[in-house]
Amino acid sequence: MERYSRQIAFPCVGKDGQAKLGESKVTVVGCGALGTVAAELLVRGGVGSVQIVDRDIVELSNLQRQFLYTERDAAERLPKALALAAHLKAINSSVEIHPVVTELTGSKAVSLLRGSTVVLDATDNYVTRFTINDACLELKLPWVYGGALGSRGMTATFQDHGACFRCLFSELPALGAGDSCELEGVLASATAIVAALQVAAVMKLIIEPNTMQGCALEFDVWKGSFHTIPLERDDRCPACKEGQRLFLADDGLSQTSFVCGRNSVLVRAGCAELDLAKLARVLAAKGLEVRQTKFSLRVEALEREIVLFADGRALVNGTSDAQEARRVCNAVLGS
Ligand SMILES: [Zn+2]
Repeated sequence: MERYSRQIAFPCVGKDGQAKLGESKVTVVGCGALGTVAAELLVRGGVGSVQIVDRDIVELSNLQRQFLYTERDAAERLPKALALAAHLKAINSSVEIHPVVTELTGSKAVSLLRGSTVVLDATDNYVTRFTINDACLELKLPWVYGGALGSRGMTATFQDHGACFRCLFSELPALGAGDSCELEGVLASATAIVAALQVAAVMKLIIEPNTMQGCALEFDVWKGSFHTIPLERDDRCPACKEGQRLFLADDGLSQTSFVCGRNSVLVRAGCAELDLAKLARVLAAKGLEVRQTKFSLRVEALEREIVLFADGRALVNGTSDAQEARRVCNAVLGS
């Protein structure tokens, strides 16, 4: 207990709170800028069991903001979950660390998150967050959202009785918005604060489970601003009110297509990379109206608008029917 003496001296934790932390299991989804910091704080703080989930490998460009990883991890191209687990074990050998090298998708999400006390979202995309939301609603688990971009950050806590993530975002945001750190950049100060706020929320959910307010925190480290936004449950929420669990389905169509809202569908065109410049020339030659930006291609076809991304995703606007969206994609892309 000497290890945790400073934390126990804080009256809101105390010996009882420390014991509750030791009996808890926290799953951290994503081992990037948020996940590495969050996992380190949880392990140093004496959470009994920490599960870390990530499918990526360590790269040199990660080291600016993803704590604990070393140049050797990047040179050896180690899976993030395994590299992080090794560092965490060296920090606190009394904590059980469970690394899982995978992507949290479909029904796998429920089996991976089952048994957790709290789930911490450290992902960088909305599809995975929607999946966490569906799985946590299904398992009645609280989870803590976190996101950062540029100098800004945001966290929010979702619990069984309050608003869920889809009450806030009923539709997937415009594609690319979820993973644009590559484009807009991000400060490690912002990601580290988000992770620290998330861990404080996780600890409070474990120690004082019924006292958490349903609210979001938003800040900007460059402007020095910080504020709280109340979260309100949406009476028409497809997930927590209507019971829809769209992101937990394992059938082929839902794995490749997501209904993003009332009027758009995300289609994943497999894992193939799209050569946008070449595709733009081909589609223009077919007489289609094409607008190209550096990162996407907009095509007007069959009374729909399709936004194509280089990683093979396509957003079809003008329909909420997944099969219709796939048919339009196939017609335009010829596959
Ligand atoms: Zn909801």
